[in-house]
Amino acid sequence: MGKPTGFLEYDRKESEASSELERIKNFNEFHKPLSEKEQKCQAARCMECGVPFCQSGMMIGGMMSGCPLNNLIPEWNDLLYKGAWELAYKRLRLTSNFPEFTCRVCPALCEKACTCGANGDPVSVRENEFAIVEKAYSEGWAKAQPPRVRTGKAVAVIGSGPSGLAAADQLNRRGHSVTVFERSDRVGGLLMYGIPNMKLEKHIIGRRIKIMEEEGITFRTGVNVGKDISAQEILDSFDRVILACGASAPRDINAPGRDAGGIYFAVDFLKSTTKALLDNGLTEGTYISAKGKNVIVIGGGDTGNDCVGTCVRHGAKSVTQLEMMPRLPDTRADNNPWPQWPRVCKTDYGQQEAAAVFGSDPRVYQTTVKEFIKNENGDLCAAVLVALEPEKDEKTGRMMMKPAPGSEHTVEVELVLIAAGFLGSEKYVTDAFGTDTDARSNIASAPGKHSTSIERVYTAGDAHSGQSLVVRAIRDGRDCAKEVDESLMGYTNL
Ligand SMILES: Cc1cc2nc3c(=O)[nH]c(=O)nc-3n(C[C@H](O)[C@H](O)[C@H](O)COP(=O)(O)OP(=O)(O)OC[C@H]3O[C@@H](n4cnc5c(N)ncnc54)[C@H](O)[C@@H]3O)c2cc1C
Ligand code: SF4
Ligand code: SF4
Repeated sequence: MGKPTGFLEYDRKESEASSELERIKNFNEFHKPLSEKEQKCQAARCMECGVPFCQSGMMIGGMMSGCPLNNLIPEWNDLLYKGAWELAYKRLRLTSNFPEFTCRVCPALCEKACTCGANGDPVSVRENEFAIVEKAYSEGWAKAQPPRVRTGKAVAVIGSGPSGLAAADQLNRRGHSVTVFERSDRVGGLLMYGIPNMKLEKHIIGRRIKIMEEEGITFRTGVNVGKDISAQEILDSFDRVILACGASAPRDINAPGRDAGGIYFAVDFLKSTTKALLDNGLTEGTYISAKGKNVIVIGGGDTGNDCVGTCVRHGAKSVTQLEMMPRLPDTRADNNPWPQWPRVCKTDYGQQEAAAVFGSDPRVYQTTVKEFIKNENGDLCAAVLVALEPEKDEKTGRMMMKPAPGSEHTVEVELVLIAAGFLGSEKYVTDAFGTDTDARSNIASAPGKHSTSIERVYTAGDAHSGQSLVVRAIRDGRDCAKEVDESLMGYTNL
């Protein structure tokens, strides 16, 4: 333990975000990190608990609590406090392939479970992680370390999101020859074409991919497996195959007028902005634009928030975010104690920005779209909204949100973004490989395993578990790699 009295002496201090009105002028990350001296004080707040809930990564009350990667948090907090930066980075990399991604986009499950947070402010674990990994890049410690020996075994990873990348990284370290297939033009999955640039600047992905290439991993972009290349060809050419294709099939809104022009799925919208930003700096009108439009985002979650932040940056006329469920409380309810994941209302960056531009929080609760209205050109011009009330379902006994009679009202809208969740893996991929799927259309495996119903074919990440988090995808990719390695070598040391 670095400083026994650290948590008493220092208050929690976080990096400063630039003001909402300033940061919406571009798509850059907008937090100014603390100085090294300040960050060390933050690390000194860690009590190095005997039972560190921060790194537990277990299900409590049906929700994940603590870091799913079991990152050795008290250890690297201590090393950071002592200024042993390189050792801290080595400790961090023992359990995490991509701390540079999680320190930017992870909802910090560690902090929600931190003992300091039981009766005060938790340790700023995620920003400590950020400081360590960025120092490693600036000092040149984050560099290629190719395996010394190759095993002669070949593994294909289908999908270059965090789960596929983590599996590829692990298997390559063991000396297997890994090829990652990606149907998009750029590597990264939803890190690249989902999470907006202001949360994760895309050169951060690029610098890690460069290291992975130097370590011997082959990336083949623009190859849609199951369409451009057959599943059989992949099976014939590789000893093992990992399906890490994500859970990208979006949940739709089945309301009359759905075929109107101007209604898009959130990820298509977010992807078009990021692609245009990287291809041409948003100068050529090659993206779905919210400029000058009244926008409704359907879905009150994180993806919806990313749409709100992107629309504000485009220069939307108004942005409304619809959420079916009631607003969550501001503080933990009695039945949701520490160290459970807190089910509380959080106001994220996009919502803060919309509030700064338009004067109020964009979220409207217990409301959905009943009908989309088209103009004479078939384009969206209005929507009928309806309020929702909780009602007990006679058959199941569960509470359902039902339309409140007489609450319908019509609003002007020219752009609707559907961020209503995802339905599971894409059918053409599972059809191509012949793998079984479960009731939620995820690729099925035996409980606690990653092997599928087809021999030599494994699965990882959202395709396996359904839409989740980057940190959980990395964990699943690592676990999958372990299983694949064992099946190839008869034992594993991953
Ligand atoms: C808009 C949005 C924002 C999010 N923000 C966050 C966040 O801030 N923090 C967080 O922790 N999580 C966030 N998530 C969730 C997180 O991004 C995912 O859980 C995670 O990326 C899943 O990783 P994955 O590797 O399983 O799949 P993905 O990241 O979905 O990657 C799958 C890849 O497989 C490719 N692919 C699919 N089929 C084929 C094929 N047949 N051939 C070749 N390639 C194929 C796809 O193109 C894709 O690149 C967000 C999700 C969305 C949609
Ligand atoms: S990966 Fe997420 S949960 Fe784990 S230490 Fe980092 S911020 Fe915390
Ligand atoms: S729970 Fe909090 S205080 Fe305890 S070891 Fe983890 S980060 Fe440190």
